[in-house]
Amino acid sequence: MEEQQSLPPHVLIFPLPLQGPVNSMFKLAQLLCYSGLHITLLLTENIYNRLVLHTDITSRFDHQFHGLQIKTISDGLHDDHPREGSKFMEVFESLRTKTKMLFKDMLTSDLLCDGGRRRRVGCIIADGILGFTCDVAEEIGVPVFCVRTISPCCLWIFFCLPKLIESGEYPFKDDDLDEPIRSIPGTETFLRRRDLPGFCRSGDLEDSNIQLFEIEGQENSRGYGLLLNTFEELDSPILNQMRTICPNLYPIGPLHANLKKKLTIENTSSRSSSSSLWTEDRTCIDWLNNQLPNSVIYVSFGSVATMTNEQLMEFWYGLVNSGQRFLWVIRPDSIPGEDWKTKIPADLAMGTKERGYIVGWAPQEEVLAHPAVGGFWTHCGWNSILESVYEGKPMICWPYFLDQQVNSRFVEKVWELGLDMKDTCDREIVEKMVKDLMVVRKDEFLERANHMSKLAKNCLMEGGSSYSNFERLVKDIKSLSDKV
Ligand code: UDP
Repeated sequence: MEEQQSLPPHVLIFPLPLQGPVNSMFKLAQLLCYSGLHITLLLTENIYNRLVLHTDITSRFDHQFHGLQIKTISDGLHDDHPREGSKFMEVFESLRTKTKMLFKDMLTSDLLCDGGRRRRVGCIIADGILGFTCDVAEEIGVPVFCVRTISPCCLWIFFCLPKLIESGEYPFKDDDLDEPIRSIPGTETFLRRRDLPGFCRSGDLEDSNIQLFEIEGQENSRGYGLLLNTFEELDSPILNQMRTICPNLYPIGPLHANLKKKLTIENTSSRSSSSSLWTEDRTCIDWLNNQLPNSVIYVSFGSVATMTNEQLMEFWYGLVNSGQRFLWVIRPDSIPGEDWKTKIPADLAMGTKERGYIVGWAPQEEVLAHPAVGGFWTHCGWNSILESVYEGKPMICWPYFLDQQVNSRFVEKVWELGLDMKDTCDREIVEKMVKDLMVVRKDEFLERANHMSKLAKNCLMEGGSSYSNFERLVKDIKSLSDKV
């Protein structure tokens, strides 16, 4: 026991097996490692295999982060299960029913102790939506912190779903999606039905999404505290609302920038190790190097969103007709069932050759930090928004699902950092919005974006809000682990 106590506290981090959560939890793992803790990052086998295929994680972590070990666990599904956005409920169910027992066995064995070189796990940080991790933590007497990597503004709506139902505002009484929503504290003046998470449109109280997210308030308050990838200066009003349900919040973001800063201080390569599930095409950086400052709109709809061939055409014509330069990420699986490359109209091919560049996956953080990029047309995934906010890039928002519908409303109406394009997909609207963002209202948006970017940078400086919250987190982890 005494020998054990002389070793650093050992924390297990378990992200949801999706690109966004994996990205941010990788960063958290490295940051906690720099703070002198031993970390086990637990990934599903499927995620781990994809990371090995597309990144240098194994070699990089062996050299740089001795305190960080990666372990894998089965998600309980067959190898050929698609695990894509539309099938995520199946992944989720399998994690809940099959992975739970494996998780418990792992924590109660010596498997994570590295032959005595690590303490037993003294603290768990798990995605708050994986409620079974709290069950196991309670059963074995290990403290747990919940972490949510979606936006706090959407999480707050999840917390309020029971209230929304009680008030009679949900399910909607008619088809008018512009009707204001009044029963969610703090959002009464700007939230409409269409800004609620996409699954709310089903109007079905038995919908598996409603059933899952309706208990978020309860589930996320089960831990010692709730970690959020945001910063006080961006989300203060919503965080104050959330504290009425989860008093102990740790807003410690933007995590990607926090890590970048740490790597610079530690004099390591300031480019953090990629945790991409696709291979990054770095030729787009060469292309950006040849463009004028603020002249390019970067277009990416993240790792899950898909579009139809018709939507692709509307977007593409809109972009080309705007006359602006663009860098566009179209993943190999962005247009399901279509080989879009075989039928590109000649005028689009020509316009793209003149002013555009298309890749299958980009080093997004680097792209957004590039001086040539003047705007970001995004699906509003929370990581993408934080990356854009940090780099001071205004946004056009085309939300796809979940928190993205909420985030896009906040981008336009609360933070005033861009334009919300939700529920439209028309080449004329795309053309107008791109011109508005990049030309007509460029100065106005850049001024707001630069201001928010400064706040994001300041919160990570010594004494800044996220800096201090992170210090508090490390202190709390150490003292809780010592009691286990
Ligand atoms: N990303 C990337 N290259 C791309 C597109 C996305 O590296 O070409 C990264 C992006 O930087 C972000 C993550 O993938 O960290 C996407 O997460 P987000 O929360 O924005 O959306 P999701 O993919 O979960 O819908």
